[in-house]
Amino acid sequence: MLDTWTLLIIDDCAADRNIYRRYLLKDPHQSYKILEADCAEDGLALCQKIHCHVILLDFCLPDMSGLELFDKLKQEIFEIPVPVIMLTGRGDEEVAVQAMKQGAQDYLVKQYLKPDVLQLAVRNAIKQSCLQAQLCKNRERQRLIATTALRIRQSLDLEQILNTAVAEVQQLLKCNRVMVYQFAPDIGGKTVASSVDSYQTIALCNNIQDVCHQVGGEDHHWGCKLPISDVYEAGLDNCYPNLLEQFNTKANLVVPINLSTHEKRKDKLWGLLIAHHSSGERQWQSDEVEILNEVSVQLAIAIQQAELLAQTQAALVKEKQLNAFKSKIVATVSHEYRTPLTSILAAASTLIQHSHRLDESKQQRLLGIIEQKARSMSKLVDNMLVVNQFELDKTKFKPIPLDLLQFFCDLIEQERETVSDRYQLIFKTTGNNTYLWGDRGLLQQIFVNLMSNALKYSPHGGNVEFHLIGTDSEVMFYIKDEGIGIPIADQKNLFKSFSRGSNVGTIPGTGLGLAIAKSCVELHGGSITLFSQMGQGTKVTVSLPKQLTCDY
Ligand code: ATP
Ligand code: MG
Repeated sequence: MLDTWTLLIIDDCAADRNIYRRYLLKDPHQSYKILEADCAEDGLALCQKIHCHVILLDFCLPDMSGLELFDKLKQEIFEIPVPVIMLTGRGDEEVAVQAMKQGAQDYLVKQYLKPDVLQLAVRNAIKQSCLQAQLCKNRERQRLIATTALRIRQSLDLEQILNTAVAEVQQLLKCNRVMVYQFAPDIGGKTVASSVDSYQTIALCNNIQDVCHQVGGEDHHWGCKLPISDVYEAGLDNCYPNLLEQFNTKANLVVPINLSTHEKRKDKLWGLLIAHHSSGERQWQSDEVEILNEVSVQLAIAIQQAELLAQTQAALVKEKQLNAFKSKIVATVSHEYRTPLTSILAAASTLIQHSHRLDESKQQRLLGIIEQKARSMSKLVDNMLVVNQFELDKTKFKPIPLDLLQFFCDLIEQERETVSDRYQLIFKTTGNNTYLWGDRGLLQQIFVNLMSNALKYSPHGGNVEFHLIGTDSEVMFYIKDEGIGIPIADQKNLFKSFSRGSNVGTIPGTGLGLAIAKSCVELHGGSITLFSQMGQGTKVTVSLPKQLTCDY
């Protein structure tokens, strides 16, 4: 069916008006509703009442010239420009030129008028005016979007960006509520910004989350007008059709927020931008969909910039931590090395200069000092290298299936061979479910550091108990001693590098063992806790899950 256009003929000659009417009604390509006026005053009155798509205007009217009327129409009546075709007489080229200068769409010489000429002129005028209107609309839309983009991208703080975006879109689309929903890596997700706080928002988003966890589903027709290609490209084709069923109401308009990745044609679906209109069904216009899409593109750029900034800031913090750590290492090395080095040097020079005067046992004692001090220096270097690897996230985690009962039995046996007889090493086990995927080297680090602490900080000896407990979901073990214990105030910091208790006195140490143990436990996805009472002893407990949650 053809569109019907309203056309007004303003001409004082009834015969001419009839001719134009006849010609136009014969047009096979367009249909018209034709209005007529025989003077300027009636023409003005009609234009005030009715919106005409095109006006045919005689150059000479009884009460006003065509040019004067055209001027009046433009100044006083037209809110949006209406195309005017001037009808001139033979030899009135000057009027025609003047009319075109004033903005008339076209002019036709009455005497030469043929049906096809008139039809074509009117059709062209309508077409041009439609294009003009579309152009204006596009310009206005681009202006609005540019302003919105500017506001959204003024901040580099993600929360602020999202809040500005929802507020701006609500203004642009004049809807009740706008939300941003962010997907989580597990295809769950949550609302991260809403222009209105309401329980309905929460309800709607719970739906999104529930549906996202369902896999499969057919292709549904989506009331929300989300372009299907975007969704499939985003790789969420499994949950998307179901997800969008939630929006299968004309009141919601949903567009994806895609972050661009460097891989060709592979955008990452970050989330959804949702406009919601609660009062009845709203028929969204195509330019509203386009506005939301374009805002979503701008929002994606802003999100990407904010994420980049956050990453750079995190890298900077990490860099600062590493620098602080390195300074600490330099300070510790120079401090911790000076004392044993002085002892080694003193022992070595005594041996060199006076060996002929020293008896066998004295020489052995000096050699013993050199060996012991060199060993502790070497251990310090080893520990610092281990901690450094953890700080740089470079520690390798290579889990294998392990029988922890056998593993710890062997370690305790080795310990028993070297430990002084002031100590009673007790090994207990509960439950027999002690198989686990673990990294031998890291588990050994945990054991060695905790056991060495238990022995070192129990200078008077006593019981040191190792208890291994296996359950269905985890393997736990603790090492408990009867040593000096740790002051409560010191306990919270002991898992940080270089932290030591204030009661250690002359017991040697650098404060790295517990930090290493903690990092090893965390690589297994487990936890480590400490319970201690001054003068009573210390118990350190490690829990390791059997189902590893980390990637390896
Ligand atoms: P090293 O790096 O040689 O292990 P360190 O033993 O001082 O030195 P950590 O093993 O990290 O370092 O222990 C940190 C601090 O925690 C110790 O200095 C000590 O004060 C306290 N601590 C740890 N285990 C015990 C324990 N079983 N009994 C008493 N204090 C302990
Ligand atoms: Mg230690």
